[in-house]
Amino acid sequence: MFHKILIANRSEVAVRIIRACRELGVATLAVYSEADAEALHVKQADEAACLGPAEAALSYLNQARILEVAQQYGCDAIHPGYGFLAENAQFARRVQEAGIRFIGPAPDSMDRMGAKIPARATAEAAGAPVVPGFDAADASDTDYIKAAADIGYPVMVKASMGGGGKGMRIVHSETELQAALDGARREAEKAFGDATVFLEKYIVDPRHIEIQILADGHGNTLHLGERECSIQRRHQKIVEETPSTAVDPALRERMGADAVAIARAVGYEGAGTIEFIMDSTGNYYFLEMNTRLQVEHPVTEFVYGLDIVQWQIRIASGEELPFSQAEITPRGHSIECRICAEDAAQGFLPQVGNVRVLREPDGPGVRLDSMLYAGQRIGADYDPMLAKLIVHAEDRSAAIRRMGLALRDMGLLGVTSNLGILAEIVDHPAFAAGKTDTGFIARHYSDYRDPEPGIPEKLAAGLAALIKGSPVQRGDSANGKAADPFNAYGNWSNT
Ligand code: ADP
Ligand code: ADP
Ligand code: MG
Repeated sequence: MFHKILIANRSEVAVRIIRACRELGVATLAVYSEADAEALHVKQADEAACLGPAEAALSYLNQARILEVAQQYGCDAIHPGYGFLAENAQFARRVQEAGIRFIGPAPDSMDRMGAKIPARATAEAAGAPVVPGFDAADASDTDYIKAAADIGYPVMVKASMGGGGKGMRIVHSETELQAALDGARREAEKAFGDATVFLEKYIVDPRHIEIQILADGHGNTLHLGERECSIQRRHQKIVEETPSTAVDPALRERMGADAVAIARAVGYEGAGTIEFIMDSTGNYYFLEMNTRLQVEHPVTEFVYGLDIVQWQIRIASGEELPFSQAEITPRGHSIECRICAEDAAQGFLPQVGNVRVLREPDGPGVRLDSMLYAGQRIGADYDPMLAKLIVHAEDRSAAIRRMGLALRDMGLLGVTSNLGILAEIVDHPAFAAGKTDTGFIARHYSDYRDPEPGIPEKLAAGLAALIKGSPVQRGDSANGKAADPFNAYGNWSNT
């Protein structure tokens, strides 16, 4: 096992990895930017080293500085988390060359899955269905126009290096195509330093269903079932669950076998995710592979009773998976909500603030993976995700009810968050009915207004002072009604 792991990330995922290391008895080194000097991961790790200024290029993406710090502090492995350098094969290679273990797949596997165009070819060769599309590397715009007509509108223009929902355009007719190609290229160049785009058939109101893979270095490649992540805004997930209401055991076996075949085709090692998109008739197609830990991994951990982060570390240190596919069995149902500093009433615009009051929900089957603490400043330098609330229960309806209660139990004053809309989503009859395609938010919340306008910063500060030291009165969260004046619609959110 490793001696000390450098965690090349921030926020809840860094905190999550520190926890896994502690349980394995491995020392941790946190790294941080000047903007994160007071961040939770810095407080929690055994040691911490500053990388540089807030700007990610100078800190969390600063490969040379991260390697320097790793060597200075005697780290024998680096965990990249997700985002930042997690899918950067060049970084993985440099880590390897420095004699340090990169906790993730081999750089060559990352290369083959890093860009969407070659990944599509790999998936197809492995026998998996891919979204009908056009991805010739040296195509002219005339070729694209012809290809789009062949595929049939609507089509999607996507960045080959895309991630986080960026560099995507839906195109309904030929007149919009040129502008979409130009726009997607610009966005891709800016976000990923690579303007390569391709076309995919636009699947109308699909479900996003992905398969978790766990592969060791001894030839065992297993899948841990699916996650449905169709509740999205800006092509980014905010609610995820397993099992999916659209997947039965036979389909799980088929999708799982396809995912395993794709992972084997690139000699995959570690935890990874094969993303599929499913149309309304149940046909599914390969979208991309994420060669890293996924934000929504906790729902799988709950249902399969495994610690995926610990397994990433144990696999990287050479351990063999001690169980077979047949021995992996799901139990119950799990749902995750991503809690973000954003205003759902303003098109999910990211928000800043000071955390004045924080109440963390608890109870059986409730887990909060969080970067939050009271008194903290939430800035605009990084991703607005603050925490993830995950519940586990015997079945889906129990999990939905548990999530609704936990969301309303959570108190967050001082920064506007999406807690309010999350509680409405899990309460929605369409959610209960499993009608959860990617159009869900646009369909039900296009003119979303917060039922209770936010509590202004000054009032939040006053409340924080008032509440300090005395037990907080709870609202009657079971019926979603506020029992105290501060507890708008039964939770403490959206201030
Ligand atoms: P996924 O398919 O898991 O959503 P994405 O490629 O969309 O994967 O990226 C991961 C998500 O996590 C994105 O929403 C991104 O903005 C966010 N993200 C990336 N890095 C971080 C981080 N360090 N802290 C919080 N959120 C992050
Ligand atoms: P990213 O790398 O940004 O995560 P993905 O290819 O995984 O990009 O797509 C992200 C989301 O965008 C999907 O979950 C889905 O909601 C939507 N999407 C992507 N491709 C298509 C498509 N061909 N048709 C319809 N929706 C799509
Ligand atoms: Mg994706």
